[in-house]
Amino acid sequence: MIKELNLDSHAIAELVLHLGRIASSEALVEGLTPVQWAGLRYFARANRFSRTPSAFAAFHGTTRGTASQTIKNLETQGYLTRIRSETDRRSVQLVLTDKASGILVNDLFQALVRAADSLPPGVRGDFANALQRMLGQVAWERGKPTFGTCASCTHLEGDDCSREGRAPYGCGFASEPLLLEELDEVCINFVQGKPMTVRGSVSGAAPR
Ligand code: SF4
Repeated sequence: MIKELNLDSHAIAELVLHLGRIASSEALVEGLTPVQWAGLRYFARANRFSRTPSAFAAFHGTTRGTASQTIKNLETQGYLTRIRSETDRRSVQLVLTDKASGILVNDLFQALVRAADSLPPGVRGDFANALQRMLGQVAWERGKPTFGTCASCTHLEGDDCSREGRAPYGCGFASEPLLLEELDEVCINFVQGKPMTVRGSVSGAAPR
């Protein structure tokens, strides 16, 4: 039987920080700096409302100027490209190229993904809820956006029942329908709400 750890709050905070540190690298990997990897990871997970330089700056906790420089470098190296939004032709989204998708499999961050994958299903749900809660509090104290996915966002509308002519889910903030595969993407407009069970999303739709 595994003995339950009884750590104080300081020790838990140290563990979270240490986990983040050892999962990334200070050195160049595949010729990219840590912040460039952070950019690739971000644009691989961001939804269509969040694929902008300013959203990346907010997510990464950096200035718009620094974020723009990182994005420019990634575009120059052929890892990011710009596309026009289908719904609003004036807005531009940054998306990963095939070259970027190809090197993401070598991201050191994958060790952290495998570690999360190895947790028992019951533990994963509780852990995700605890981390989301900690993130919400720290973001609130520091005046930063939280970021998160649709399943626990207060703006998610729908009941998983597709009616004629209507998408099963929608975003109340953007007043737009949402595709199932978009529900697991990271969003800058996220506001923590009551977790909703979202059947059929990519992650398997556990409440977050
Ligand atoms: S429901 Fe929330 S997380 Fe999903 S797209 Fe809308 S604002 Fe973003």
